[in-house]
Amino acid sequence: MNSQRMIVCGKCGAENFPQAFRCQNKNCNEIFDGSAGNSIVLGRNVTRSSQSIRANGSQRTPSFHAPLPAEWIGRPPAVRQRPEVKVAIVGFSDEAVVRQEPVPLGQVRAYFLRPDASTNEAAGLRLAGDLWKQYMPRARASFLYLSDGEPTSGGGFFGDDKEAGLQEAQTVKQMGARIATIGVRGSTMDFDHLRSIASTPALAFEAELGGISRVFMHATQSMTSHRWGQTGAEFVVFVIDESGSMEEDNKKAEVEEAVNASLALLRSL
Ligand SMILES: [Zn+2]
Repeated sequence: MNSQRMIVCGKCGAENFPQAFRCQNKNCNEIFDGSAGNSIVLGRNVTRSSQSIRANGSQRTPSFHAPLPAEWIGRPPAVRQRPEVKVAIVGFSDEAVVRQEPVPLGQVRAYFLRPDASTNEAAGLRLAGDLWKQYMPRARASFLYLSDGEPTSGGGFFGDDKEAGLQEAQTVKQMGARIATIGVRGSTMDFDHLRSIASTPALAFEAELGGISRVFMHATQSMTSHRWGQTGAEFVVFVIDESGSMEEDNKKAEVEEAVNASLALLRSL
């Protein structure tokens, strides 16, 4: 990925590194999100776009169409000290459930998705944040958030399910977590919403059936390319939509494959 893509803060105008999730101008500290631009589409019929993105966190040259780097597979052993990395998996439907308690990468079990009921995004993000604070509060937190639809619960009886999700995302981002979103195309998908959940436009991805794993790997790579392990321990939480619609088509199998492939990539870093 080229290193020229800087995020211009919409509030103070400061230039930030492409993976910045909050403005590095200490007097500003604006939290960025992905609503500034297009999600990163990695489909077959993608046309390049080169327009600037501007808003909360704007980004130049958002095109993102690179082939998967060959070094993802068979990467030679790193010379540097391996960072301490722990991983957890959270599934959410009506409520959020820990599918994998936080453990070192070598101890992670294969992930199986259990489709059920509604989409309580707020609960999923909240549980991810809770695990982080409970198990590894000093680590940098990265959340890989996948959903195939908009939130349908979590807002309470009179509340707004989407707003609840957004507020929860804002809370964990304020605490310092970075969120990458992977949206799976479908009739209920709301990419605008997912972009607002993401930490930056560079971390908002669109996937379609047949290509979920590939996009998920890109998201993992994007999340881990920025100073991975250099600031200390890393804590990664997969936050996976396990709503009933995951039973449709081949989604369940694809998402499982994506998460397990992403785990393999993390182990290779
Ligand atoms: Zn700023």
